[in-house]
Amino acid sequence: TQAYILNEPPTGNITPSTFVVETRPIPELKDGQVLVRAVAFSNDPAQRGWMSANADPKRSYSTPVQKGEVMRAYLLGEVVLSKSEKHKVGSRVVGMLGWAEYAVAGEDQVRQAPPIEGQSEFIHLSFLGMTTLTAYVGAFGEMKLKPEHVIVISGAAGAVGSVLVQIAKKVIGCKKVVGIAGGKGKCDWVKSLGADECIDYKDPNYPTLLKDALPDYADRYFDNVGGEVLDNMLPLVKRWGHVAVCGAISSYMGGNPLKLEHWGEVISNRITIKGFLCFDHPDLSKTFPGEVSEWIKQGKITVSDGEQIEPASFKDIPEVWQILFKGGNKGKLITKLV
Ligand code: NDP
Repeated sequence: TQAYILNEPPTGNITPSTFVVETRPIPELKDGQVLVRAVAFSNDPAQRGWMSANADPKRSYSTPVQKGEVMRAYLLGEVVLSKSEKHKVGSRVVGMLGWAEYAVAGEDQVRQAPPIEGQSEFIHLSFLGMTTLTAYVGAFGEMKLKPEHVIVISGAAGAVGSVLVQIAKKVIGCKKVVGIAGGKGKCDWVKSLGADECIDYKDPNYPTLLKDALPDYADRYFDNVGGEVLDNMLPLVKRWGHVAVCGAISSYMGGNPLKLEHWGEVISNRITIKGFLCFDHPDLSKTFPGEVSEWIKQGKITVSDGEQIEPASFKDIPEVWQILFKGGNKGKLITKLV
């Protein structure tokens, strides 16, 4: 099978020598194993952190990908050979099997991802996947959103952000939902999902526009971006307000996520800033698929145009993933192997 092997763990941007493509033999299946053919890959900003040259294993939430290993990635695949009772040949599964055409997996390394009538074949990577879980956990486990809350969400047109906008407005009924996203087209889309306002952070008047959108300040700020976007928000968070730190994509390819001119606001306004991971609330991980499926049925979460499917050949996989860092995606970015 062909596989992307981490060749030169990056310190900044991805370069042509970050990965090499190798053809590796497929080992014979042992009892309890399956052979999975990759159908589509989830694209996640976190993959940049998993391969970082300077990741300290003691401080990382998962073991960093080592030089010489297959690049880690979550995928939807089809079982093509099986020595497991749990997974029949022809069934669809999801799992963290990496950027490879074929992968051998233990039966508990993957879970069944059957097609759902009337839904996209990729729903287990998108609306029933990790990014929606993150929005769900952010809303209920971390920010404990209530109808009286004013909430601001950065990265609002992305996979996590666009679902959180909808949970905040259409499920919880928050008083005001303000998105922050790059470009007018994205902002219009975020408003069509239910946001009361969406501010384009690339607009030269953006700090003023954001301030004008928040005359009563924000009870909650959900930060996907870090850096200047976070800094601009600190003076706009209500006294005793909360910042939920989900991601800091502005610095994943290098640079400092904390060029904070407004740090004093945290003290004077007693702001709580707390990071979290989507796996932090096992109770919510259990209720998540059922509740989200119900909201989709009720039309509270709109799935049409919430997935951006990029058909790609194997050689284009890293290029498609990097669309995330260029602001080229709306909703969940998925690579469909063709
Ligand atoms: P997105 O779909 O949001 O894709 C990335 C988007 O980020 C881009 O489209 C772009 O939107 C924006 N972006 C990229 N570079 C920059 C930049 N330099 N400054 C500002 N915005 C930028 O990805 P996800 O929804 O999958 O992830 C969103 C965030 O959530 C990430 O930070 C990710 O790491 C984090 N995350 C955290 C998890 C957790 O458990 N804590 C789990 C999953 C994700 P635009 O055009 O608007 O700039």
